[in-house]
Amino acid sequence: MSRQISSLLAIAAVCVTLAPAPAFAQAPKKAPVDCEQVKCIALTFDDGPGKYAGTLLDTLKKYDAKATFFLEGQYVTSRPTYVKRMVAEGHEVGNHSYKHPDFTKIETWDIRSEIKKTQDAVKKASGVEPKLLRPPYGMADLQVSDIAAEFGMPMILWTGGSEDWKSKNVAAIKKKTLEVAKRDGIILMHDWVKQSVDAMPSIVKSLQKKGYTLVTVSDIVKREELEPGDIFPVPAGWEN
Ligand SMILES: [Zn+2]
Repeated sequence: MSRQISSLLAIAAVCVTLAPAPAFAQAPKKAPVDCEQVKCIALTFDDGPGKYAGTLLDTLKKYDAKATFFLEGQYVTSRPTYVKRMVAEGHEVGNHSYKHPDFTKIETWDIRSEIKKTQDAVKKASGVEPKLLRPPYGMADLQVSDIAAEFGMPMILWTGGSEDWKSKNVAAIKKKTLEVAKRDGIILMHDWVKQSVDAMPSIVKSLQKKGYTLVTVSDIVKREELEPGDIFPVPAGWEN
């Protein structure tokens, strides 16, 4: 019996013992993914929810894959139903500012406002608050780190980019994504790039064929025990 099934059964047994709820009231929750045991990778989609988020969510659902969306507050406000669906379908939502300014070039009050407005918008749309921050352009300094810490969030960059915004070509996006894919990798993509969304069924199938389980960023960084204000992966030249 697999570990996952046995722990599910253990949870189910506890539930039955403690709470004799009506039968079939609620399906048991899926056991969390353990990236020590399985080959994990996290696809991340920035700047959305983009126009094509619905199609992307359909693909992820079809292949039972999870992803992380680093959302831009202004689009959370204009497309809240996608955000609600992301959370309902088990994806992770992160904060990617409200209007995408370079945090190293704006005033501290403005950084705080960008983060706060987005936290509030995501909470309003989905009921949950992001726990991770991805600063626009991946640009951060110690001041940004201090402000992220105030909000209780670590900052998440990426280990590899699909360069989808640059190529805008289905074949090139797939090639680049598979090239940078690695165990526990965090891959940067964008759901406003139509070609990325078009390439997704093929990318997901290829990754799964290579033995990857597509998980959220939090699944991957669980073992890092990141503190608020930490940055991961630590960029070259970053001083703490
Ligand atoms: Zn961005």
